[in-house]
Amino acid sequence: MKARILIIEDEKKIAEILKLYLEREGFSVIHVLTAKDALSLIKEDIPDLIILDLILPDMDGEELCSLIKKNYDIPVIMLTAKSSEEEKVKGFEAGADDYVVKPFGPKELMARIRARLREKKKTGRLSFNRGELIINTRNHEVLIGGKPVNLTNTEFKILLLLAGRPGQVFTREEIISAVFGYDFEGYDRTVDAHIKNIRHKIELDPGKPAFLRTVYGAGYKFTGTRDEG
Ligand code: CA
Repeated sequence: MKARILIIEDEKKIAEILKLYLEREGFSVIHVLTAKDALSLIKEDIPDLIILDLILPDMDGEELCSLIKKNYDIPVIMLTAKSSEEEKVKGFEAGADDYVVKPFGPKELMARIRARLREKKKTGRLSFNRGELIINTRNHEVLIGGKPVNLTNTEFKILLLLAGRPGQVFTREEIISAVFGYDFEGYDRTVDAHIKNIRHKIELDPGKPAFLRTVYGAGYKFTGTRDEG
C-alpha cells in the first residue's frame, strides 16, 4: 500500500513541484491550499504524513499543527521560509516532528519523510491481551481473535484514544473534544452510544467488557494489557 501524504501549502507552484516529486518517489499525494480544507480532509481520511507550510491564508501553521496533533497521531513536517532558531522552536513546540527550510533540496525532504514514516511504522501496530485485540493505526484495521472487525471512523478514533493510554480514565468531554474536535457541541450520550457499539464489536461479553470499562461518575478507561514488542 502506498503511503498517503497530505501537502498543506497555499503556494501552488511549490505544491505542484512537490506533488510531482513525491508521486515519482511512489507516494500517493493529496494537496490542499487552506487549513480549513486540511482539517475536513483529515477527518474523512487520515493521511500517513503531513507536509505543512507555516504561513497559510486562514490559519498559522503552528496553530494548525497543534490542532492536528491534539487529535491525531500523524507525523508533521513543517515547511517554511523561516529559518531562525526561534521559529524552529515554535514549530517543535506546536508538535511538529521535523522542520525543512525553503528552499530545500528534494533529497533532504525525502530522507526526512522516509525517516518519519519508518518511525511511525514501528508504532503502527498495537497488540493487547496476547494478540486478542490488535489495532493497526496505519490502515485502521482492528482484529479480535485474528478476525477483522468493522469499526466506523468515529468508533476507531475512540478506541485508539483510550487504548493509547491503558488505565487512564477519560471523561466523556475529553473523548468528545479529542474525537470530534474542540468546537463540537456533543452530548455525553453520544459517547455512551459509541462505546456501546464498540463493545458489541470487540468484547466477547459486552455486559462484562474486558477492554472498555465504565468508570462510574467519571468516564471510560481501556483495560487491555499491551503486549511486548
Ligand atoms: Ca505559504
